[in-house]
Amino acid sequence: MRILLTGGAGFLGSHLCEYLLDQDHEVIVMDNLLTGNVDNLGHLFGRDGFTFINHDVINYIYDQGHLDYVLHFASPASPDDYMRYPIRTMKVGAHGTHNALGVARAKKAKFFLASTSESYGDPLVHPQPETYWGNVNPIGTRGVYDEAKRFAEAMTMAYHRESGIDTRIIRIFNTYGPRMRKKDGRAIPNFINQALEGEPLTVWGDGSQTRSVCYVSDLVDGIYKLMHADYHEPVNIGNPAEEISMKDLATKILKMTESKSEIVFKPNAQIGDDPKVRQPDITLARKLLGWEPKVSPDEGLRWTIEWFKNN
Ligand code: UDP
Repeated sequence: MRILLTGGAGFLGSHLCEYLLDQDHEVIVMDNLLTGNVDNLGHLFGRDGFTFINHDVINYIYDQGHLDYVLHFASPASPDDYMRYPIRTMKVGAHGTHNALGVARAKKAKFFLASTSESYGDPLVHPQPETYWGNVNPIGTRGVYDEAKRFAEAMTMAYHRESGIDTRIIRIFNTYGPRMRKKDGRAIPNFINQALEGEPLTVWGDGSQTRSVCYVSDLVDGIYKLMHADYHEPVNIGNPAEEISMKDLATKILKMTESKSEIVFKPNAQIGDDPKVRQPDITLARKLLGWEPKVSPDEGLRWTIEWFKNN
């Protein structure tokens, strides 16, 4: 297939790009490098089938050739980033998704939207099945990301229903692995780098809030399976087995890195809408895709810690 991948210079996009090239697809990565980095793709330059275009998809997307798939992954995804760039986050979710859908329609390509567990907001149903409509504060600090992605989902379904575009929507739960930025702001890269550098691990609030963490290779496997499934409504992909409180996660990382750092609990005024719990219900992914996460956090965190040590 010839595939357009927006946001392909990011953490997740770069892993997906590499996987697609390994399956002998042609991949055109489009990224404005706001939060992505070409270094994530450095090893792919010069490889057959790989093209990089520095372009912000909130502007018209132009491609000369035939396209089989448009994968729309462009967006800031770390809370630190989307709070720093709230308008650009809303624009890429709205105008960016519109342009990506437009190019898919023009090329008669399939369309794949990277949505998020943030669509559920601070959930009142636990774990979260796809049928749950969520609990989002539209004017909260996280609202810029949550509502942009909810709009993107609505837009994708509108194009599917009105224009007959063959669409997919994934709701991605917390994912980690190599190539996250050192100053990414998210819990796992923050804790690992703080531990490795002997700095205090910053746990926001009392650390009782939970997340379920999924290693990046499992997520990419789920994406590829969903690309090939005939299903148009959202599908959760994440690792439900590994729901952990942030306090326990920080403790685990301290132990794994053999660090002498302390844990400090800090109020974080920005994170007023920080979800208190999060765990994907993956019954649908299991049934529809035969997908199951395989990497345990002990393994995945070990690989990620090694990567940060060496990079
Ligand atoms: N968090 C934390 N310390 C940090 C970074 C994050 O305690 O240095 C918390 C954050 O408040 C949230 C959880 O860890 O409750 C997961 O945050 P992350 O940014 O990784 O992803 P989110 O699921 O919130 O998008």
